[in-house]
Amino acid sequence: MDHQLILDGALVAKEVKESLTTRVKSLKKQGITPCLATILVGDDASSATYVRMKGNACEKIGMLSRKIHLPKETSTDELLEKIEKLNKDESVHGILLQHPVPAQIDERAAFEAIAIEKDVDGVTSLGFGQTAFGFGNYPSCTPAAIISILDYYDIEIEGKHAVVIGRSPILGKPVSMMLLNRNATVTTCHSCTQNLADIVKLADIVVAAVGKPNFVQGDWIKKGAIVLDAGYNEGNIGDVDYEACKKNASAITPVPGGVGPVTISMLLKQTVDAAELTLEKHLTC
Ligand code: NAP
Repeated sequence: MDHQLILDGALVAKEVKESLTTRVKSLKKQGITPCLATILVGDDASSATYVRMKGNACEKIGMLSRKIHLPKETSTDELLEKIEKLNKDESVHGILLQHPVPAQIDERAAFEAIAIEKDVDGVTSLGFGQTAFGFGNYPSCTPAAIISILDYYDIEIEGKHAVVIGRSPILGKPVSMMLLNRNATVTTCHSCTQNLADIVKLADIVVAAVGKPNFVQGDWIKKGAIVLDAGYNEGNIGDVDYEACKKNASAITPVPGGVGPVTISMLLKQTVDAAELTLEKHLTC
């Protein structure tokens, strides 16, 4: 394409974080330091890296991060007890349970235990429902990142045909809802979808959330389409065959440096939002 745009997630994230730094300073002056609690269960190396990155990102903008690392043998009850304590702890504003948890744990029950006002990653069914209705405070962070990138680059969503590949509760489903709420016509695809390539070829906006490296092929992309790659596979590889898809796309996110950094900045933003809401409550009491 002649006028091709690389959608630079690092740039979007930098701007979000700059505005958060000011908000964090102002909160601190009023006696509140926004704090994100991260819970990691077990020793999965990638999960440990993600949690560390999130904690470091908090500290860089003056927030606190409370890292809770539980042994891989932790039971559902033990995890629920930990979450309950964090729910009651007034110095914690957001809770992030790193997915996936070890197999013996009922992950859904653990997500549901997070108090809605601290569910800054939109993992509870109430948070998801609110996102679907379009009035939730805290949508899932990767879908929020995708919408933020489109908005940052003034890419129109209304009236466009968006094809989302993937329907997970944290990514494909909520981003489909958020695009629908912004008046896109949305097709959500999954592992049982037939003629996937033909459906993607109709898309003005393609969101890849499959979890398979280089899955989306160059000849599936309509000329001029916008491509957002949420995938993050081993070796820093996205779900989109970037070089091939770039040829037809008018705008595309790279991996790394696309959706990933914006996702982290959305997590920080939503935790700061939560801290500001607690301050408002204190002031009105
Ligand atoms: P997931 O829970 O494994 O869901 C994958 C989805 O892809 C499922 O809905 C599955 O369909 C669908 N799928 C699998 N094979 C398919 C096929 N051949 N054709 C069409 N659809 C297919 O994964 P996830 O948690 O949503 O994550 C997706 C990707 O995003 C991964 O690469 C992950 O690492 C990445 N991710 C990135 C961020 C970030 O911050 N950038 C955050 C979270 C996740 P079924 O429902 O039918 O099984």
